[in-house]
Amino acid sequence: MRKPVFYERSELARTLWVFRREFLWVAVFSLVANMLMLTPSIYLLQIYDRVLYSRSELTLIVVTLFMVLFFVIMAFAERIRSRLLVRSGMRIDRELNPRAFMASFEAYLRQTRRNPVEAFSSLATLRQFLTGQGVLAFLDSPWVVIYIAVIFLLHPFLGWLSVLFAGIQIGVAWYSHRMTDQSIRCASDAGINSVEYVQGKLRNMEPLHAMGMLGNMRDRWLKRHTISRDQNSMSFAIQNRQQAMTKFVRLSMQSLTLGAAALLVIDGKLTPGAMIAANMLMARALQPLDMLVASRKIIVQAWMAFSRLESVFEAFPERSGGKVYNEPQGNMRLENVNATAPGRETPILDGLTADIPTGSVLVVVGPSGSGKSTLARCMVGVWPDMEGKILIDGLSIESWDRRELGPHIGYLPQDIELLDGTIAENIARFGQLDPDKVVEAAKRTGIHDMILRFPGGYDTRIGESGNMLSAGQRQRIGLARAIYGNPAILVLDEPNANLDEAGDIALVDAIEDLKKHGKTVVIISHRPYIVKIADLLLMLKEGKIIHFGARHAVLEKTRSQGKQQVESAG
Ligand code: ATP
Repeated sequence: MRKPVFYERSELARTLWVFRREFLWVAVFSLVANMLMLTPSIYLLQIYDRVLYSRSELTLIVVTLFMVLFFVIMAFAERIRSRLLVRSGMRIDRELNPRAFMASFEAYLRQTRRNPVEAFSSLATLRQFLTGQGVLAFLDSPWVVIYIAVIFLLHPFLGWLSVLFAGIQIGVAWYSHRMTDQSIRCASDAGINSVEYVQGKLRNMEPLHAMGMLGNMRDRWLKRHTISRDQNSMSFAIQNRQQAMTKFVRLSMQSLTLGAAALLVIDGKLTPGAMIAANMLMARALQPLDMLVASRKIIVQAWMAFSRLESVFEAFPERSGGKVYNEPQGNMRLENVNATAPGRETPILDGLTADIPTGSVLVVVGPSGSGKSTLARCMVGVWPDMEGKILIDGLSIESWDRRELGPHIGYLPQDIELLDGTIAENIARFGQLDPDKVVEAAKRTGIHDMILRFPGGYDTRIGESGNMLSAGQRQRIGLARAIYGNPAILVLDEPNANLDEAGDIALVDAIEDLKKHGKTVVIISHRPYIVKIADLLLMLKEGKIIHFGARHAVLEKTRSQGKQQVESAG
């Protein structure tokens, strides 16, 4: 039978639930530490009401020794508690970080408007809460009841007074929460919005600077920043007001307790020791509530982080590992492939069906925006909104384990996307470095000599996104990365967009070499010299195949169609 909905924990809640035992132990040590917090009050009571009356030094020594012992135990309990929290924090991080990484990666891949680092910052906020003051404020709060019970033991009148004061404190805390919750949320959202805006623009700094657009961008950012700053100062003002009110209430209540206890002493209903102990206990009883009020911002932020992380995990559930098949040979088939994108009414690719046998070179041509790059992304299985099938050796690309399939696929995207690291690391796809394979890939793409001319050779660091390299160099290193490890299928999206003549020759040589080795190569290119080396030609227009087949047949067909059009126009 299906469990009622309220029993169904989200993925994040399920993962955190695993740590319940650790948090239970933290609660146990909190219990010990809090219980021993009564030591100063009891010690004081003993000094005033026993030692000073009896004038017994031995009693003083014994009571003092017990006091020191209790403090040692308390320090020990607090130490273990904080160690447990630090350890749990590390384990929570280890458990959730890989998942947050994959979810961020998926969010980016699907080109949603989510900030890819959102999952990491939410995880950090949540971890800080669960392993710091935030969670301790929660664990200490039940102790209000115990401290009040002890005050009752001193005198019922003081007990009821403390109940009244705790009620007032809770009322103030609740009122503060209502007043500040919204402002904390608004300030946090506005802050994230402003930072995201700057991060987005930093990537396009050069054109912004060259075309004098920085001022316009700054004005737009300033609008966001002003909202964030105003929200923040409003939030701080409200919080400070609330804190001042809480402090006033706390101090007044403590002194009023002392006054009330003094009245009881005058009436002979309370000893002076109990009076001072009651005062200390009252301060202690109200402290956890104070802490809850002070930690309110962390609590609200942690709750927001939890919700954000939960929604990222829900939107991008963990993918199953996929299956491990035999090494692919490189036979590719597109079966009624449709690609769409959020917010688009017409499909980008519309019912594409094509067979690309092992060892053939397919060149895809078509006007700008006809869907060539989208097709390349579908072929390597990274386009999220796709219907139909991409089959490799008759098996759907979706069903493969990506880690198994990845090394058999070479992909050179239009905007290359090299990563910060050395040239060798980039060519070797950041995996185990095999120098022979790296050099082989570089030689096959004709860049070995070019790399040796760099100051650090293969160990030259290429900077963020390869910004230390020219566009042509980036493209050629991207090509070497694509053919590294001899993949069965290569998909090259405009691999010659930035190449000089030598690069063009090296590219053609590399493709012919791959063909000789029986590799399947798909190239998107407009250049006639690339079309010449094609076995198959696919012409796309507005997302549809207008011609597909052997190169000669397709060229013949387009030529005769062209002739017919000229004749009918004439
Ligand atoms: P070019 O030759 O200029 O590189 P292309 O043929 O490779 O063009 P694609 O990049 O595949 O064209 O884009 C095809 C269509 O899909 C375009 O109209 C483009 O606006 C649209 N498109 C591409 N990516 C997205 C996206 N992420 N969201 C929405 N629409 C998109």
